[in-house]
Order: sequence, then structure tokens, then C-alpha cells
Amino acid sequence: AREGFIRKTKTVCTYCGVGCSFDVWTRDRHILKVEPGPGPANGVSTCVKGKFAWDYVNSGERLTTPLIRDGERFREATWDEATALIARRFTDLRAAHGPDALGFIASSKCTNEEAYLVQKLARQVIGTNNVDNCSRYCQSPATMGLWRTVGYGGDSGTIHDIELARLVITVGSNAAESHPVLATRVKRAHKRRGQGLVVVDLREHELARRADVFLRPRAGTDFVWLSAVTKYILDAGLAAHDFLQDRVNGLDEYRASLTAFTLEYAEAVTGLRAPDLRALAHRIVDASDGRAPGGVCILWAMGVTQQVGGSETSAAISNLLLVTGNYGRPGMGAYPLRGHNNVQGASDFGAMPDRLPGYQQVSDPDVRAKFSVAWDCEIRPEAGLNNTTMVAAALDGTLKALYLSGEEMGLTDANADHVARAHEALEFFVVQDVFFTHTARYADVVLPASPSLEKDGTFTNTERRIQRLHAALPPLGDSLPDWMILQRVANALGAGWTYTHPADIMHEAASLTPLFAGVTYDRLDGYRSLVWPVNADGTDTPLLYTERFNFPDGRARLYPAQYLPRVEAPDAQYDLHLNSGRMLEHFHEGNMTFRVPGIAAQVPDAFVEVHPDLARERGVEDGAYVRLVSRHGAVRLRALVTDRVAPGELYVPMNARRAEDAVNRLTGAQADAATCTPAYKDTAVRLEVL
Ligand code: SF4
Repeated sequence: AREGFIRKTKTVCTYCGVGCSFDVWTRDRHILKVEPGPGPANGVSTCVKGKFAWDYVNSGERLTTPLIRDGERFREATWDEATALIARRFTDLRAAHGPDALGFIASSKCTNEEAYLVQKLARQVIGTNNVDNCSRYCQSPATMGLWRTVGYGGDSGTIHDIELARLVITVGSNAAESHPVLATRVKRAHKRRGQGLVVVDLREHELARRADVFLRPRAGTDFVWLSAVTKYILDAGLAAHDFLQDRVNGLDEYRASLTAFTLEYAEAVTGLRAPDLRALAHRIVDASDGRAPGGVCILWAMGVTQQVGGSETSAAISNLLLVTGNYGRPGMGAYPLRGHNNVQGASDFGAMPDRLPGYQQVSDPDVRAKFSVAWDCEIRPEAGLNNTTMVAAALDGTLKALYLSGEEMGLTDANADHVARAHEALEFFVVQDVFFTHTARYADVVLPASPSLEKDGTFTNTERRIQRLHAALPPLGDSLPDWMILQRVANALGAGWTYTHPADIMHEAASLTPLFAGVTYDRLDGYRSLVWPVNADGTDTPLLYTERFNFPDGRARLYPAQYLPRVEAPDAQYDLHLNSGRMLEHFHEGNMTFRVPGIAAQVPDAFVEVHPDLARERGVEDGAYVRLVSRHGAVRLRALVTDRVAPGELYVPMNARRAEDAVNRLTGAQADAATCTPAYKDTAVRLEVL
């Protein structure tokens, strides 16, 4: 575009899994306005972040040139110098210690095409399956729960299906702040159509206050009430018997595993009253009777997944939906709400230690043979390290080098001091990001990347919907879109990649991945989108499981119940449960949105929510500083006295202006047993008045 001209560019918001589409109006580098277009996920809506939180792209703190460590400082370098250093160090470390001494972490802030290239760099160029992405920190347990029961790891329908439901249940999700436009659609359906709304959460947030029923169980006990409600439905003869008979395996074994989960047991463990759970069971059954369109949609997020039993509880949600026949028709199903826009896509496109793009398993010899031929390399059959085990491997000295793209790992991973020690232990550490992050302080090379407004590509939202984004601005300074950086690094290592545009990358990925067989940029033009699986003829699949579940026999599988209680139950020394989550105004750790003056003025820092009774008991003044101390660290925050939290609970947003006060200084090493997702929500602290 000629200088001074006004441009309108269609892009997709990266700030949450709703994946709102909009036009960005720019003149030169100035963002004039954000105008929602006819996006399939958002219609003509956005939230405050999507509308106003983009000025960070012109921040004077942006990285604009590669940096190389020089003793205790960093010096500016050329791209050739930086990539040559990376190639030399990676080559030396691989020669000395083997390819599994290197690890790669992709970002869900980046595009599908970029996730594809990170895993290709790891597998083809280096020869390791040590590759993962930041869904390991949030939604891997939800994916595991769905893989165990219905076969695909994504939402079973679209946001439109959530609107069509007769009953929406949210569990461990503060959707009004974490997925604002989706929550608006739920609120609208509740108000205008009389859609039932049940909210189960530790905090009485906005959606909880609007719900027909708000249930506040004890922390970490969702598995118990879900299993008890399911058992009650089965025992009372209220299950969807024809559905179970025709489409589901494993009923007898599952039923036997529920023996202990009576409503009375659930009341004792969760604190929810047995009559309330019985009423919930009947509410679910009434909304599932099949006589009217729609059924039950269950939405869940990190309150469920970031627990030691996150995968078990996610499977319990899916079990409940199966027992009541809530899969396969419009207006029903399972909806794990993805955090960033591209949490779904980063895994879809293969940035996982055991799966190639489209969830094709590295253990499958036919899959390996296909990729080996296409990439002219050997694909290893063993699963690699994930984010969590990479930290452990760095500390025990087996992981020597890490390539981290678009992830403030030092603040968003749990147990921050432990992670810092792992970063210090690495022999070579590459960080690729938009800003010089807290994590970058430990790097040997820092590469300047472009944010979403400066790049082309695709994102996949929480609905499995693939959408195009177009570059509204040129890269700032010498920064580059991540796919270009990855290609430079790969080619410095001798790969010979020749991608000229992200469309080339998508074309290659689609040719190797049945899930995306019909995905082309032509079919994604403008506001068009595709919901995977996408057939070769371009037909897509907004609603899964209409005829078959994704297992060889086409039948779903009930997964036996196993309750994994919390590890850090409060005790005399650490007497309060600490919960954490997102804020409406800020994105993730806050590196971007704290640099947007309007947003930062509105919400300048993190805080800790304290119930009025607890505040009175401990002498905590609203707005005063307090110290929170856990077994793993301490932070200093201002107290916000509010009855949103229960008396024995504290709540801290994950977004902090100062790294010293990040909530993950308090969280520990406990993790979901099946996926290694940190159990952020399983943290006990004490509160000290300053
Ligand atoms: Fe939409 Fe989420 Fe972005 Fe808000 S943060 S505009 S709801 S995608």
C-alpha cells in the first residue's frame, strides 16, 4: 500500500479461543479502528481486547533485531549471524549428545503454519520428537478426556450449537472474562430463549450470577459430583438406553467403577447438597429427552483441566454426556474452551511429542513412512518430551538446548523458580518472541518475531474452525513472521526449505493430513472458514459424531472412573486454597496488553481477591498490600475484597505487570497424571498482612 493510504485488512483475534474475525483499518502503522465483520464465531461483536488492545504492536519495547548473549549482556546481531550461531550450536550439541538433547516448544499465539514448521524443524531437521506447545499448560487434559471417550480431542460442535442447547452447563470456566463473545451468546440465549444455564465454579463471577443454578463445590472435586450425578441417572433408569445400546461400549465396567459415587458421598466430598445434585441430574435428563431440538452442552476450562485429575474429570464430563445421549445432534455435546485462539491449531498441526499433524501417531509405521518419504528423513517411533518433562530433563542435564517460540514460559509454566533453574541449566537457549520477555533473560539468542497483525496464515478456534488472517502491518524493524524465522533457522541447518508464503505450508500440511485434506487458502478467502475434519472436496464437519464416533468400530467408549484428590490440601501452615485465571482486559501473562496504555490504565496490575469475612478476620484492608506464601514461593499483591470468592479461597489473575508477582511463583510441580499439565489450581497458600 502507498504511504498515507487507509487500508482495511481482515484478520482474526488471537486473544482467546472464540476466534473473532474483524477488519483492521490502518494508515501507515496507525491502527485507526477495529471493525467486526461477519465472522462465523462472533458475528459483529468483539470484546474490549479485540477492539482496543492492539497498540502494543508499535511499542518502543518491541524486539526489532536479533540479539546474541555477550557475557551478562546482549548485543544486536544480523539474522545471518544469529541463525549461523543457532545452527552451529544445535549441530554440535546433536553430534555430542544425540538429537534428543534438543527440544522445541511452539506457541498458540502463532499460526497453524508456524506450529507445523516448529514440529517439522524438530522432526525433519534435528531428528527428535521433543516438541510440544502451550496447550500442555491448559487444555491437554480436556483433549485426553475426549480421546478416551469419543475419539476426537476438539469441541463436538460449534458455538452455534451451544446457542441451540436447551441446557448449558459451565464447569471451571469464567467464560464472561475468558471467552467474552461466546459468553455473550450464551447470555443472549438464556435471556431471550429461556435456555437453561447452570454454572459450577469456585467463584461467583458474572455468568454465575446470571445462572439459573450456581453450584460452588470444594476445590478439585468436580470429578466427584459429575460421577455421582451420572451414577444417579443410571441407577434411576433415566439414562439414554437406546443411545447407549446402539453407540457406546463399556457400560458395565463404567457402571461398576461408579459404585462409591453416591450422592451422599458426593455431598461429603464436594460440599454440594445431595438434593441439589439430584435436581441437577433431573434437569440434565429433562433437557436430553429428545422430544425437542437441542440437548445439553457442557463447557469447561482450566478450573477442570489444571488439576491432578484433569484428564479424569474431562472424561467424566464426556461420560455424563454419553450416558444422557448428548452427542451427535445439533445443540449438544462437549465444549472444552480453548484459551488462546490457536491452542487448538498448535496441537492440530503436530506440535506434540507423540503426534504428527492431524493427530497421526508417531508410533504408527504407516504414518511414519508417509512423512519419511515426504520429508526425506527418518521419523522416530518413540514419543518425545513434553513441556513439563523438558523442564525436568534440562535440570537433570539430558536436555541441552531449547528452542522456545512465542511463550513466556518462565511465568506461565507452574513453579516459576524451578523453571528458571531449568532455563539456567540449558547449554543453549533460543527465545523467539515479540518482546524481550522475562524468559528471554536466560536465552543465548533472542529472535524478534511479528505478532498476528503483521502476519498471514490461519488460526483454528475452539470450534475447530480454521480462519485466515492477513497482515495488516509490515513487520516492525527487522522482526519477521515466525514462519520466516523458522525457515531461516532450518535452512541454516541445511534443510533447503523453499516456502514463499504460508499457503505453501498449508498445502504441504493438507497433503499429508487426512484431517485437513480439503483445506486450501482459496476455500478460506475473506470471512470463509472450514471446520475440521475437512474432506478433499472441501466439505467440512461443524458437528461431530452424527453417525460414528472416532474409533475403528464407530462406537464411543465410557471411561472408568478414578478420582484423584488434590495434592496440596490446605494445612496449618498453608491454610487457604489459591485459585487463578484470566482477566477480561488482559491477555495471558500480560506482555502485550500491559503495553496498551488504555488497557493498562484500566487495569494496571494483578491483585488478590479476598472474601470480606476473611478480610475482617485477618485485618486485610481493601487495596492494601498483602503477601501470599506457598511451599514454592511468595508474591506481593494488593487485596481486592469481594464476595466473588468463597471465604476459604483466594483468587489471583494470571496476568501480572511485574514478573516478581506472577502467580506461578506460588504454584508447584504437581501435574495431571495423564498429560503432565501442571495442576495450577492445586495450590495452598497463607496470607500475610504487610
Ligand atoms: Fe473475540 Fe476472544 Fe478476541 Fe474478545 S478476546 S475479541 S472474545 S477472540
